[in-house]
Amino acid sequence: MLSPEGRQLTQMTTTSPEQYDAIIIGTGQAASPLARALGKNGKRTAVIEREHVGGTCINEGCTPTKTMVASARVAYLTRRAVDYGVNAGGAVSVDMAAVRQRKRDIVESWGQGTTNRLISAENVDLILGEGRFTGPHEVDVALNEGGTRRLAAGMIFINTGARPHMPPIEGLADVPCFQFHDHHGTGRRA
Ligand SMILES: Cc1cc2nc3c(=O)[nH]c(=O)nc-3n(C[C@H](O)[C@H](O)[C@H](O)COP(=O)(O)OP(=O)(O)OC[C@H]3O[C@@H](n4cnc5c(N)ncnc54)[C@H](O)[C@@H]3O)c2cc1C
Repeated sequence: MLSPEGRQLTQMTTTSPEQYDAIIIGTGQAASPLARALGKNGKRTAVIEREHVGGTCINEGCTPTKTMVASARVAYLTRRAVDYGVNAGGAVSVDMAAVRQRKRDIVESWGQGTTNRLISAENVDLILGEGRFTGPHEVDVALNEGGTRRLAAGMIFINTGARPHMPPIEGLADVPCFQFHDHHGTGRRA
């Protein structure tokens, strides 16, 4: 494209952003109550999540670990049943596949519950994709389903949590090691 004086002009993308009152990037612990409170007070709110709704606690942290700890505790107590005057009826075995399935079912149910609360909240849009600032009040979302949405808001809340940090231990980078999400089989990047 040429200017009236004949200078070469660079073509600019001028898609105007979708206007919200608030944007929340990441659906960690605070996102759902905050979004619902904002929406209830008439604030049009976009909630952006790139991976799994509910964040670390529900999907990889507190919930999956504690469901498995609960199974371990039941096994422990059942083995000690006789000490409590209870006849548990023979040898106790642990079905790890069932333990993991129970964990997956609970994680799925809680994640779905959070999703349902967000999508049914008034004035709240849940957008699945990765948010990236393009200005002090603008965020581009690389949608998980492909494409990009450009959003703008007066208030932007960063609720992106934390990610594992590999400590600077000599030789660590050369050996296989687990990070917290690995044992849940989510394949999440660090
Ligand atoms: C194995 C394990 C066990 C734990 N057990 C407990 C426990 O028993 N009790 C306890 O109190 N705490 C526990 N924690 C800690 C707890 O899970 C975290 O402190 C808490 O989940 C952090 O919440 P958050 O809201 O800060 O972020 P997160 O829950 O990490 O949420 C951040 C979200 O933001 C999303 N996100 C990041 N960047 C972007 C982006 N650019 N665009 C869109 N989305 C993005 C992520 O996908 C994620 O869903 C545990 C943690 C681990 C790892």
